[in-house]
Amino acid sequence: MIKIYTLGGYEEVGKNMTAVEYNGEVVIVDMGIRLDRVLIHEDVEFQKMSSKDLRKLGAIPDDRPIRNKKVVAIALSHGHLDHIGAVGKLAPHYPDVPIYGTPYTIRLAKSEIKGEEYFEVTNPLYETNYGEIVQVSENLAIEFVQITHSIPQSSIVVIHTPEGAVVYACDYKFDNNHPYGERPDYKRLKELGKEGVKVLIAESTRVAEETKTPSEAVAKMLLEDFFLYEGMEADGLIATTFASHIARLQELIEIANKMGRQAIFIGRSLAKYTGIAKQLGLIKMKGSRVLRSPNAVSKVLKEVSQARENYLLIVTGHQGEPGAILTRMANGELYDIGPRDTVVFSAGVIPNPLNVAQRYALETKLRMKGVRMIKNLHVSGHASKEDHRYLIRMLNPEYIVPAHGEFRMLTHYAELAEEEGYMIGKEVFISRNGHVVEIPGSLEG
Ligand SMILES: [Zn+2]
Repeated sequence: MIKIYTLGGYEEVGKNMTAVEYNGEVVIVDMGIRLDRVLIHEDVEFQKMSSKDLRKLGAIPDDRPIRNKKVVAIALSHGHLDHIGAVGKLAPHYPDVPIYGTPYTIRLAKSEIKGEEYFEVTNPLYETNYGEIVQVSENLAIEFVQITHSIPQSSIVVIHTPEGAVVYACDYKFDNNHPYGERPDYKRLKELGKEGVKVLIAESTRVAEETKTPSEAVAKMLLEDFFLYEGMEADGLIATTFASHIARLQELIEIANKMGRQAIFIGRSLAKYTGIAKQLGLIKMKGSRVLRSPNAVSKVLKEVSQARENYLLIVTGHQGEPGAILTRMANGELYDIGPRDTVVFSAGVIPNPLNVAQRYALETKLRMKGVRMIKNLHVSGHASKEDHRYLIRMLNPEYIVPAHGEFRMLTHYAELAEEEGYMIGKEVFISRNGHVVEIPGSLEG
């Protein structure tokens, strides 16, 4: 019998963790953190804290239901922190169990582990390519299927069991016009549907949106439409977006080059994500510059403020995070931001109350300084209702477990599943953190 342990991300957007058990053996998928629970305590030093204290804060999943099980592999779906941010804290509970993911994901996980100051992590990490099927025990194999999201090398994780496949689709969208050629592997997804999918575990964050999520090409067009028109007149230009959104950063570099400005990246997380992307050939940094040390930041920003028209600054702080570059600028540090500057938000506001409040404070401070603001030049990386419907139809799963969302999001997903002919409680299971969904055995048996 297959059991799905819904450990984290079933009551919130964040700290995703799921475990799939077959015949006493377990594959863990994702070990995420919930950043708002860390950020709300100003004195929290995440890297130095024990998993017990972080669990009490609600910042990382509670993995006690599987602690004594025979875990044979840990699979990471993609490199966002709400999927890999707790690896340094939780992988040590499963010493020496191998961790798998695509190359970009694994390198980001390694950088999380390197920063870990409380535990020693002994798990070997393996970079796995799309399409490779890794046998992790006699009965179980895992596979990473190429999919599009808002970070490079995202995957749909498949756990192959003798009773059929368990497919984990958190997070994804179907981008059919990605500007840099990333593509969903429709062929493989359809094959899986034919071979037989036992369970689909799918994200729910945007399932209530009655549309199909637009391609990243639309975000590129929104940015070009603003920056690259003949009447464009601006002095200082500052853009901010997700540091892990490599495609978006590439678009901004190209725009800066076309405008004859130099793109300058400022902020620690931007340096981290672009640095690893560059190692793997996932971003072309030509014409741009990355500032790493605090000294370089203050020196270069002094130069920039004397000749603003020559630069496009790309900075951290789109959610108003304390300590991020844009937040510090708005507080009057680093750079004399003011009426000569335009700030472009290439990101939406993440809908949790802490982000909403911090972003509100940031915008108010910028407005008080006379800064011009352009908001929402952005499209989401998450599947909307029609992406989800398409995935259900391609995979034709026997059972569905909605994941990655608050209760109302999971129920919205369940409603979609009912539209597609499934029944809540019989074939669709809404779970909570820490619970187990027992999947009925093979129907032919
Ligand atoms: Zn994600």
